[in-house]
Amino acid sequence: MRKTEATLQPVPRARVQEMKEYHPPLGNRDALRLDFNENTLACSSKVREVLGKLSAGELTRYPEREPVERIVAEHLSLAPKQVVLTNGVDEAIHVLFETFLESGDELLLPVPTYTMYEVYASATDARTIAVQAGADLQFPIDGLIAAITSRTKIIAIANPNSPSGSVATRAQIIELARRAPYAIILVDEAYFHFHGETVIDLVGVLPNLVVARTFSKAYGLAGLRLGLLAGDVETMRWVRRVLSPYSVNSLALACLEPALKDTDYIDWYVAEVLAARTEFELALDSVNIRRWPSRANFVLVEIGAQHAGFVRMMHEGGVLVRDRSSDPGCDGCVRITIGTRQQMRDAVAALNKALTNLRVEGEVR
Ligand code: PMP
Repeated sequence: MRKTEATLQPVPRARVQEMKEYHPPLGNRDALRLDFNENTLACSSKVREVLGKLSAGELTRYPEREPVERIVAEHLSLAPKQVVLTNGVDEAIHVLFETFLESGDELLLPVPTYTMYEVYASATDARTIAVQAGADLQFPIDGLIAAITSRTKIIAIANPNSPSGSVATRAQIIELARRAPYAIILVDEAYFHFHGETVIDLVGVLPNLVVARTFSKAYGLAGLRLGLLAGDVETMRWVRRVLSPYSVNSLALACLEPALKDTDYIDWYVAEVLAARTEFELALDSVNIRRWPSRANFVLVEIGAQHAGFVRMMHEGGVLVRDRSSDPGCDGCVRITIGTRQQMRDAVAALNKALTNLRVEGEVR
């Protein structure tokens, strides 16, 4: 029930009262973490060295984002004014939506997708129009094109997408950008390193394209909260108005350059994950678990009615995986992050044990 002034308590905006609470299962994660698509090992040792050398005096100062934005812009072959650093991609999404979405606007969302787009949109006065992917969970380009109206203000595309692991092609993104030139096409490339394809080179070419990147996945810095938006100078200028000048802290800023420079570490980690993904997919196929093809560091699998029991048994076997059964079109599905080959062999052992137990109970497909 909506609260009114009569309750004699401060009353939040109506849209906030209608928001769902979102509690990611972050507690009790002392196990093999195949639940949040993080790097499952560590960040570069070069980043650790820099962290260890930060002086107490340096922490007394407010963080200065701009010099680091210049470094990251150069790394991406962009102009500094085309890049904004944020407190993770989550803040980037939040601020972009706060900057552009107002009453009467529509956010177009291919679903299933990353939860936070809908969460942040629900705090604005705009409407979210979900476009459901088919059973193959491929990018629903035709449905999106059909759903574009003059009210479309943002189209949010996770590329690769979570939880499905599917991708939108460059041609599809360009087509959407051309068909809705008055809307922002947000391409969230959180899992870019595992896919290897990007549209960041089209920033400045397609005026309505905005690309997001994170340091939480391949770089192994989820705890530092570091992300970025890249887009047209004018668009980034509006975003900067809304963003706190201090939202990226000094530790994160100090780590960005060594993280970017240690390309050997990223190349090694990504190659390890891709090799592990191939091995893991073969193991899934050998026990007839349905899976969707993935271009990211995770795989979506169909467990069926016993999805919750499967997640629990995996946990008992020391492996955390994520139940995605309530995502639209993902009934009975579980998402499993890919770590190193050794970690995934341990995961396969836990999975086989869990399946045996569930098959005894007669419900797994
Ligand atoms: N985008 C996608 C598609 C994600 O899956 C995630 C992480 N779960 C994020 C953004 C959030 O990234 P960050 O840690 O930088 O906020």
